[in-house]
Amino acid sequence: MALKLFNTLSRSIQDFTPLDSTGKKVGMYCCGPTVYDFAHIGNWRTFVFGDLVRRTLEFNGYTVTHVMNITDVEDKIIKRVRENKTSLRELTGKYEAAFFEDLLALNCKMPHHTPHATEHIPEIISLIEKLIQRGIAYKAADGSVYFSIEKYRSCGCTYGQLLKLNFDEMRAGERVKSDEYAKESVADFALWKARVPDDGDVFWPSPWGEGRPGWHIECSAMSTKILGPSFDLHVGGEDLIFPHHEDEIAQSEGATGKPFVKHWLHGAHLLVEGKKMSKSLGNFFTLRDLLAKGFTGREIRYLLLTAHYRETFNFTLEGLQGARTALARIDECLGKLREVAGTSPKSKVQSPKPDDPMIQRFTQSLDDDLNISAAWAVVFEWVRETNKRIADNSLSAADAVAALTVWDKVDSVLGIGAPAEAEASAEIVVLLEARQAARKAKDFKRADAIRDELKSKGWVIEDTTKGPKLKKI
Ligand code: AMP
Ligand code: ZN
Repeated sequence: MALKLFNTLSRSIQDFTPLDSTGKKVGMYCCGPTVYDFAHIGNWRTFVFGDLVRRTLEFNGYTVTHVMNITDVEDKIIKRVRENKTSLRELTGKYEAAFFEDLLALNCKMPHHTPHATEHIPEIISLIEKLIQRGIAYKAADGSVYFSIEKYRSCGCTYGQLLKLNFDEMRAGERVKSDEYAKESVADFALWKARVPDDGDVFWPSPWGEGRPGWHIECSAMSTKILGPSFDLHVGGEDLIFPHHEDEIAQSEGATGKPFVKHWLHGAHLLVEGKKMSKSLGNFFTLRDLLAKGFTGREIRYLLLTAHYRETFNFTLEGLQGARTALARIDECLGKLREVAGTSPKSKVQSPKPDDPMIQRFTQSLDDDLNISAAWAVVFEWVRETNKRIADNSLSAADAVAALTVWDKVDSVLGIGAPAEAEASAEIVVLLEARQAARKAKDFKRADAIRDELKSKGWVIEDTTKGPKLKKI
C-alpha cells in the first residue's frame, strides 16, 4: 500500500505522489512559530505532527527538503515589542532560541531550512510588485498595499480552495490590515503595511514607502523561494486554513500562475477542558512548565503523538502520567532485549527484513493517513509478544539483536528513543565490586555505605537473580 494522506484541498484521502519526476524528492513547508513568547504545547502538537510527517516520508524512502519559517515580524510581535519596551531583534532572538531548544527537547528533526521573514524583505517586495503588475494588488490611500480578491477572481482564479466560501452570503469588498480576520468577511488583505507610529523602529523602505510586510505574504515569499513555485506538502494547524493558507494560495498562484501546493495537511487542535489551548484564553502550558513539573521531553512527545492528527485531543496531566507508564513498558522490554542480545555483534543485522511482520503492520498503519493509534497498537502487541518470548526463554541472542534492529527502524518514525543502559565508569564498577566483597564478608554496614555512595554518584544497585545490576538514576 502506498502512503495515503488527507488533503484539505480535495477534502479526501489521496495517494501521496510527489511532483518530482523521479518520484523520490519531496518539498515540505511547515508554517513556523511566531516568536514573541514561548510556544505552548498546543503549538507543539502541530510542530510534532510536522515532524511525524517528515519522518514518515523518510521511512517511506523519500528524500525530504523540510522548510520551517520563523515569523519574526508580525502584528503580535510588534505589540509585544512596544509593551516590553524592547527591540524586535532582542525579543524575537530570545524566543527563537527557546523554540529551537524545545524542538530538540521534543526530539523533532531540525528542518533543513529555517528562513526568517526579516531576512526576506527583498523577496517579499518583489512578490508584491509582481501582484501589482498583474493588477491583483493595489496601493490604497493609507499607503498600504492590498490584495484584491475581486481582481483575483475576475482572472479566473479561485479564492476559497481550502474552505468553501459562499460569496453571496459574505461581506465582500472590505479591507483588513490585521493579519488575522474572520471568515465571514472575504476581505482584501494587506501585503505591505504602511508605517504607523505604533510600529516604532520596525520598518523597511519599499517602492510604496516605509512599512513592513503582512504575515501571509511572508510565507508565500519564503516557501516559493526555497521550494519553487509549486511544491508537494504544506503543513500547519487547522486554524491556519483561513485566512492564512487561503491567502498564501491566492498570493502565490496570483503571482506565478502555477498551482502552489499539491497536498495540504492540517492538524487538529490540542484542547484543555474542551477549549483550544491558546495564549489568549490563558489555558496553556509551555513545554518548560511541564519539564519543571518533572516530565521529560520524550513523555510529552509520546503524549502529543498518541491521537490521530485530524482529531482534537484533550490535554491533561493524568495523560502525561499515562505516557510515563506506557514508555516504561517499552523501556523495560528494550532493556531485557539488550540483556539477551548481550555482546552479539549488531553489525550482523544492519536493517530489519522487509517482510518483518512488525515493520509491515507498522508501515500499513502509518500509510493509512498516519493512523498513529493503530501504529501504537502494533508497537504494544510487539512488546507483549517479545516479553513472552523472553519469559519462555525462546529468544536467542541473535533474535534479540534482530528485534532491536526492528525497534530502531520503528523508532526512526516515533522518535521516542529509549535510553540504553548508561555505561558505568571504572570508578563506579570498582565500588560495585567492593560492595559485593563486603556483602560476601557479611560486612553489611560497609555494603550499605557503598550503596549510599553509589547513590550519591547517581547510580542505584538492583539485585537480580543474575547478580547485582547498576542503573543510572
Ligand atoms: P503561532 O506561533 O501562533 O503562529 O502558531 C504556531 C502553530 O501552532 C500554528 O501552526 C498553529 O496552527 C498551531 N496551533 C496554535 N494553537 C494550537 C492548538 N491549541 N493546538 C494545536 N496547534 C495549535
Ligand atoms: Zn505560514
